[in-house]
Amino acid sequence: MTIDATQDGLIIGVIGAGAMGRGIAQVAATGGCTVIMFDTRAESSKEAVEFIEGMLGRAVEKNRMTAEDAKASMGRIQIADSMNGLNTCHAIIEAATENLDIKRKIFAELESIVSDDIILATNTSSLSVTTIASSCERPERVAGFHFFNPVPLMKLVEVIDGVRTEPWVADFLFELGKRMGREPVRVADAPGFLVNQVGRGYTIEASHLCSEGVAAFVDVDRIMRDAAGFRMGPLELMDLTAIDVTHPATELIYEQFFHEPRFRPSTLMKTRMEAGLLGRKTKQGFYTYEGGKQQTPEEAAPTSYDGRPIWVSGTRADAQAQIANILQNAGANIDSGEQPGDDSVIVVLPLGKDATTACLEEGLDPARTVALDTLIGLDKRRTVMKTPVTDPAFADAAAGAFAADGTPVTVIHDSAGFVTQRILGMIVNIGCSIAQSGAATSADIDKAVTLGLGYPHGPLAFGDFLGADRVLEILTSIHQMTGDPRYRPTPWLRRRAHLGVSLLTPES
Ligand code: NAD
Repeated sequence: MTIDATQDGLIIGVIGAGAMGRGIAQVAATGGCTVIMFDTRAESSKEAVEFIEGMLGRAVEKNRMTAEDAKASMGRIQIADSMNGLNTCHAIIEAATENLDIKRKIFAELESIVSDDIILATNTSSLSVTTIASSCERPERVAGFHFFNPVPLMKLVEVIDGVRTEPWVADFLFELGKRMGREPVRVADAPGFLVNQVGRGYTIEASHLCSEGVAAFVDVDRIMRDAAGFRMGPLELMDLTAIDVTHPATELIYEQFFHEPRFRPSTLMKTRMEAGLLGRKTKQGFYTYEGGKQQTPEEAAPTSYDGRPIWVSGTRADAQAQIANILQNAGANIDSGEQPGDDSVIVVLPLGKDATTACLEEGLDPARTVALDTLIGLDKRRTVMKTPVTDPAFADAAAGAFAADGTPVTVIHDSAGFVTQRILGMIVNIGCSIAQSGAATSADIDKAVTLGLGYPHGPLAFGDFLGADRVLEILTSIHQMTGDPRYRPTPWLRRRAHLGVSLLTPES
């Protein structure tokens, strides 16, 4: 029997009526499917029905749905008091507690209840779909169907092909996802699937930056929000998700990838988790919370510019002209000599190098040198990076001059790649490694990340926006400087950057 996801009378089973199960049941019912929910805790299913009723009631109040449609949707939801009650379903979505043994038992029991052509899907977020399927008699009818929380608001659903999943199974779930009002993407089973893999780049790299003493938590967040355009900084995001969720998931992905260095967790995450600084839910994480509100330390007033001449390195002609313009508009005294004058503040513009290296390569005086991050726009926030010996008066003068037009400036310690270059380089590179593996199309990688994580661009389009050649230069340089293989550029990035084509370019 071929099941058609668009057919009338489609019956969907949902196992587990917790946070995810109830959301999945809601969108299945509003998509016109009959839903049968089962939870070992009978109250969970009842609470879920009440919860969905409340959600649909609010949708009616806000004119997003008619009262008739809400009533009809509620009329399509049933509760089963045992797993046997799911025997009429065409497809069953398991959203029970995240535990391999529990899921294996559920799938084994389901196989004894439903016929061979019924599709079995799991909403697991961190377990391997292939591993869950491996204990099934018919692993080919098992796939991942990974929704995001809260389901009714998060449009994305990842449809995951396990190693032995037959294509018709994921094809069906893809269509079912659309019927449920979602935006499905198709991805081959891999640790973290698609979104959770790319999301590691943001939080892990930020944690490494902080544990290396490059910048304070709040500064990393400010830079990523203002300069790079993210809605939330990586540290405040970890506070929202809770570090006892983020860190174990990170460790699991690292283990599942056999210690791929790109996913190496930071000790900072683990120690803060062990210290109980979990985030919003414990009122203390990277920030403290009062009355549910994040307490953000006030930003120090900008230093004032004392009129010292400012000399900008000519190694990057475009950036040099843009910076000269900023300094001119701010009324700064520009040193336009071939070499810096004896009293001038020196500004270098490295990509992937630290201020020390950039300064010494140009034969400049490190005590008078700062580096400015030119990877991404300079209009919302500017990052100034000191060498270990930059004279504070020169660092203050540089920060003051760059803040003179009212744009905030963050001063950080020396690091190959500043903050944005390291974090964005990592995100782009992970996106490229997924594309390289063929687990998903370039378009789906970007779609999933923008929908699932709300990043300003998907990783591949972000790479194009920043310039694939510049991202390659950054990663190559950080890799050379640190010797850390986590920064090694992927072949996907290297080839497309050398060919001068978009990172979205598929293999021919
Ligand atoms: P939850 O704890 O809110 O709900 C789990 C429900 O499963 C509970 O009501 C529990 O009683 C029930 N349950 C446990 N064992 C069962 C069994 N043998 N049979 C039937 N019901 C059983 O958990 P959740 O957050 O809804 O997560 C469910 C699944 O969705 C997990 O696999 C999780 O990884 C995944 N997921 C969660 C999120 C999230 O943000 N919460 C996002 C994506 C995916």
